[in-house]
Amino acid sequence: MALTLSKRAEGIVQAEIRVMTIECEKAGGINLAQGVCDTGVPFSVVQGAKEAIDHGINSYTRYDGLAELRNAIAVKMLEFNNIAVDPETEITVSAGSTGAFYCACLALLDPGDEVILFEPYYGYHLNTLIAANVVPRYVRMSFPEMKFTVEDLERIVTSKTKGIMVCTPANPSGKVFTEEELRLIAGFAVKHDLFVFTDEIYEYFVYDDKKHMSPGSFLEIADRTVTISGYSKTFSITGWRIGYSVCRKQWADMIGYVNDLIYVCAPAPLQMGVASGIMNLSPDYYKNLCREFKGKRDKLCSALFSAGLTPLVPQGAYYVLADAGSLPGNTGKEKAMYLLEKTGVASVPGSAFYHDDSGENIIRFCFAKTDDVLDEACKRIKNLKLNW
Ligand code: GLN
Repeated sequence: MALTLSKRAEGIVQAEIRVMTIECEKAGGINLAQGVCDTGVPFSVVQGAKEAIDHGINSYTRYDGLAELRNAIAVKMLEFNNIAVDPETEITVSAGSTGAFYCACLALLDPGDEVILFEPYYGYHLNTLIAANVVPRYVRMSFPEMKFTVEDLERIVTSKTKGIMVCTPANPSGKVFTEEELRLIAGFAVKHDLFVFTDEIYEYFVYDDKKHMSPGSFLEIADRTVTISGYSKTFSITGWRIGYSVCRKQWADMIGYVNDLIYVCAPAPLQMGVASGIMNLSPDYYKNLCREFKGKRDKLCSALFSAGLTPLVPQGAYYVLADAGSLPGNTGKEKAMYLLEKTGVASVPGSAFYHDDSGENIIRFCFAKTDDVLDEACKRIKNLKLNW
């Protein structure tokens, strides 16, 4: 008898983001690869979690999350996302937005169904679909404008297409989808009877004159949209794994059952910490977050410009795609490894975000770092030319 991995496993690989983190640790480098986010956690978030532990909120929660957190999310969804949601039946708190998306895929998609992804995509979206035996279809956004047309969508839709995935602000491109683009996607989803999955985990990281908009707020697609987000990035708690999905009860019930099956519940005291943050932080917190991260973005982009790694200045989120064409190496991986070796700064090869070889001359940097770490990384990047 020869035991083998599952057929499903053939499509699953270790995420390049993780691979580069491991390489970075080996090299003792600065990790601008994984979107770890090591800036400070707001006091009320920490306090809320600590108090919850002290007060005995340490057992299982309801499968879809504690009422305190679901109620807080409902308030935030209405005020910030312009989506009215019933906290009793339409929210599933999950193990991060990644967990929320996986549950939605298992609840709503069958093996062989197709889901459209905008490319460059976030690898976890792709691999989650693959793990659910869903077939990805790609819409290429032009580089560097990150534009697409409805014809691009029409070209790839088939009778098996059951969903379209939007990530706004986007990882890795930093694109903030405009209202016009989102309305076009909405019309397309109605026309072809598709679910709209929307990952908005970077919703508070929007720069310059851009505005975040949630497709779920459009009435014509409210019934078919699963809005996914979480607090990993906003509260700098990527390791807490608190995310959620919001959709009609008709879908949310099954998403909740799947969530129960896989995770049972998200960590109870950490749910309370996030609820406390949502209810206690003032609008200034979110404004400052934007201001602070805009400063980090500008710092990193200017270092990349001076090193000849021309950045695609992001409109949102906290990653920068840079042109790595001038670095030695035949592949994105070789270029990222060269950079790590020469500067001790880790990035992610662009191949992690494209299904073909289009990412080989691109690398992604994350700027969710404390200023001292980012300053040091920028200094090293600027000095790169000196090392050639
Ligand atoms: N979202 C983060 C990134 O893009 C990483 C998430 C993860 O490590 N799974 O880097």
